[in-house]
Amino acid sequence: MQITKFLAYLLFSSFILISCSDDDDNNPLSNALQADNQRPLGSSANALLSSNTFTSLTIEMVSVQGFEPTTTAVNAFKQFLEERLFKPDGITINQRSVPSSNTAPFSIEEISEIENNTRSLFNVGDEITVYVYFADGSREDDTNVQVTLGTAYRNTSMVIYEGTLRQLSTRPNSPLLSTIETATLNHEFSHLLGLVNIGTPLQSDHEDQDANGHCNVQSCLMEAAIEFGSGMMGLGDMVPELDAQCIADLQANGGR
Ligand SMILES: [Zn+2]
Ligand SMILES: [Zn+2]
Repeated sequence: MQITKFLAYLLFSSFILISCSDDDDNNPLSNALQADNQRPLGSSANALLSSNTFTSLTIEMVSVQGFEPTTTAVNAFKQFLEERLFKPDGITINQRSVPSSNTAPFSIEEISEIENNTRSLFNVGDEITVYVYFADGSREDDTNVQVTLGTAYRNTSMVIYEGTLRQLSTRPNSPLLSTIETATLNHEFSHLLGLVNIGTPLQSDHEDQDANGHCNVQSCLMEAAIEFGSGMMGLGDMVPELDAQCIADLQANGGR
């Protein structure tokens, strides 16, 4: 999440404008089927965590050719999900590659449009789906001092700025690319799970007052810094984990 719930809401609103002008969305049936996957960030937290409505999860992982994540990261991400989610019928990650959109650097509106053009899986029956896009470039509001590694922008949608991750991994003393990828995937997906206080209610007072949607426990996966390049330096090759308070929030909202 890009810092505030309010901004997330704005992002959602801007998506509506885009989808209304998209000629591919004229089929009322497909619009109805897709509506469940076009809600605000955090609104599917319980649906993702518990098996109440959905007993399986399929992740549609779409990468620009040449910007696919490492196998190590995909496996670690899947393990992270299996530790936190109740999905008795399993968690599946479908991967495929697509040509570049040639639109880097990206605004979230541009990422939403790419999703409109490339997402093929939507919730069906007892299967919930999540879209993850590995972009060949950076977020457009990056600066010399702060870069964004990923953004969770709707209830079942997130982007990883793989171009930025790869640049970061070539710096001296940087963690391995697979470590940066895993930390970013786990962090952004945890926003889909409603952390911190965006769809999953707090069980204790641990929201960062200076960075809404994040955790104030040092070295927790949901520290705001993890979303930015600065937070990756000094990690070594340890992927940060959720602290006890974040896990307690997820468990109280149906998680494992
Ligand atoms: Zn974040
Ligand atoms: Zn935490």
